[in-house]
Amino acid sequence: MFIFPENMKMYKGNLHTHTNLSDGRASPEYAVERYKDHGYSFLAITDHNRYFKGYDEDGFLVLGGVEFDTMSEDKTRAWHVIGFGLEREYSAPESKTIESFSKSITDAGGMTILGHPAWSLLNIEDLIYADNCFATEIYSSVSYLSGRGDSSLYTDTVTAKGCFKKILGVDDTHYYGTGNNEFLNWICVPMPSLSRENLFRTLNTDSFYCSQGPEIKQIEISDTTVKIYCSEVKKVTFFTNLNYEKNRIVYAGDSPLTCAEYTINPNIIYLRVECEDYNGKRACSQYLKFKNGVYEGRTL
Ligand SMILES: [Zn+2]
Ligand SMILES: [Zn+2]
Repeated sequence: MFIFPENMKMYKGNLHTHTNLSDGRASPEYAVERYKDHGYSFLAITDHNRYFKGYDEDGFLVLGGVEFDTMSEDKTRAWHVIGFGLEREYSAPESKTIESFSKSITDAGGMTILGHPAWSLLNIEDLIYADNCFATEIYSSVSYLSGRGDSSLYTDTVTAKGCFKKILGVDDTHYYGTGNNEFLNWICVPMPSLSRENLFRTLNTDSFYCSQGPEIKQIEISDTTVKIYCSEVKKVTFFTNLNYEKNRIVYAGDSPLTCAEYTINPNIIYLRVECEDYNGKRACSQYLKFKNGVYEGRTL
């Protein structure tokens, strides 16, 4: 079986963006134009504690959103909850908790993301506690500016405990035109046509991926193997819940890799396939759920 539907158009988008409605350095209109010009098809405007109403343009979706935050009592850990795709203005969260933030967002028709756990210095229990968020940011462009943009160790560890969530690459854009937090992390989402409903439907499956550059063309699962087909890369890593697996990493030889294969270990509960190109840019699949060697996830 295939993880991505065959012959369906892939749409590129960013679900976490700030504008001058909070601490971003450009207007929402300018942000939308920038992303449109760079080949994106959807963008969520998610300002701090400020609702933005989405709208549809011809060939482009502007998704409404908001970002809420709170800190642990000792001020060492921060929870940031991002909402996108809100259909109406949210009612103020009853308290500064993840449950209240999530309720405000989902009551307004939106979906919730736990933002940048590495930047936030969360601990593993915090991620499990945030179980009502549908996704976690695995790569965050603006968080790379403070050296903690990669949260994959968090998401791998939490998923090994059986807590499955979707993963997203986002920009969390604040600074425009600087080249250091725009157009660096995105998601590629297949849809029969571009709409908020189709986007939500695909995001609830394993049929989309995160990228910083490389393209994942297909992931094919047979009874015994998982094969990835991708653009030219220098290595492919098959991350699972097992500490050690022989041949986990496949390296390119004299010519670049465009395909790599993993033999399914019956003890895995997940597989996350990541490929890395010659510029160090990565792309990765969702956490594909397995039981007794059989894929148990959901595709579009
Ligand atoms: Zn944040
Ligand atoms: Zn943010």
